[in-house]
Amino acid sequence: MRRIIVLGSTGSIGTQALEVIRANPRSFELVALAAGSNAELLGEQAAQFRIDDTALGAQQAEQLVRDVDADVVLNAITGSIGLGPTLAALKAGRTLALANKESLIVGGELVTQAAAEGQIVPVDSEHSALAQALRSGTQAEVRRLVVTASGGPFRGRSRKELTSVTPAEALAHPTWDMGRVVTTNSATLVNKGLEVIEAHLLFDVDYDDIEVVVHPQSIVHSMVEFVDGSTIAQASPPDMRLPISLGLDWPHRTAGVGVPLDWTKASSWDFEPLDDDAFPAVALAKSVGRAGRTFPAVFNAANEQAVDAFHEGRLPFLGIVDTVARVVEAHDSPDQLSVESLSEAEAWARATADQFIAAG
Ligand code: NDP
Repeated sequence: MRRIIVLGSTGSIGTQALEVIRANPRSFELVALAAGSNAELLGEQAAQFRIDDTALGAQQAEQLVRDVDADVVLNAITGSIGLGPTLAALKAGRTLALANKESLIVGGELVTQAAAEGQIVPVDSEHSALAQALRSGTQAEVRRLVVTASGGPFRGRSRKELTSVTPAEALAHPTWDMGRVVTTNSATLVNKGLEVIEAHLLFDVDYDDIEVVVHPQSIVHSMVEFVDGSTIAQASPPDMRLPISLGLDWPHRTAGVGVPLDWTKASSWDFEPLDDDAFPAVALAKSVGRAGRTFPAVFNAANEQAVDAFHEGRLPFLGIVDTVARVVEAHDSPDQLSVESLSEAEAWARATADQFIAAG
């Protein structure tokens, strides 16, 4: 039986996590909940699960993680505001089931150095797939990580064809139903760029050995290629409840949590190389990841500003990644990484992105 704290319980991942917990009372006990501002839904959830310990806001979530005894903290908050709760969970010695990839990417070494071996368990479907596939060999036997990307709603379009796409089109993700930021990031492939940085930080594999391949069906969630030429892939219909349950109970599997593939029906899986011209976000993320220090935080913060501007009609779709690239280019990172230097860099990135966007 694992005692679970869910941060971001009112969101897409959070509500699915509660479904998994509700369906498996012998494996999981929910002990505390936190959300951002949706007090109404948080209250309903607390009443349903008979939870006394709830919190609103990231500061209160950090406190909750310190105060409430638990085995696992699921961080499903959205955005880099999740960094404090991530560090608090690691320092409190909890297993961190991490959906909030932004906190790992932004925090970089601050997070990896605070974590004991195996203390962070990925919830992102790609990284869950990689963690599952990595069990097939040793670290020295790994040649490459192959991260799959659905390609988003604009897969196959040229850069020119992306000039006038709208926010509504960007939010129509072909295979996953997710929050607004992560869905937009899937359309720009920024999400895949962030996932490459996440994979590097989680599994300590060089950026040169992390490949992105477009796989529109989102059935193969990622693969590991080993030195003998063998590739191990993890495949399942797209359903976040599977990686969420693994995150909560790693390395154990929860029976019946997902529906398996149906091999009695004909199906085909496609794999295509990524078009770096139309979707430059992955190459940009790799260079940002290599530069390290505050660069990933700047990349992420500039992107969040640009995504907002896009949804408010102040920036065209292609302007999102173009703005991020300009902000990264203008950034001068301090050598020392700290929570303060990160938040200064983020504030600078947001202000600089806003200036670039306003100037057009
Ligand atoms: P949502 O936008 O659906 O939900 C975000 C959650 O975070 C909500 O519960 C929200 O509360 C809460 N929240 C926002 N701000 C704060 C804050 N300051 N303090 C505490 N809680 C806060 O996002 P998703 O569930 O889609 O994504 C969550 C994370 O998981 C993201 O990092 C995303 O990248 C990652 N992820 C999501 C996937 C998916 O399928 N959705 C897949 C893989 C990763 P409130 O409702 O009150 O605003």
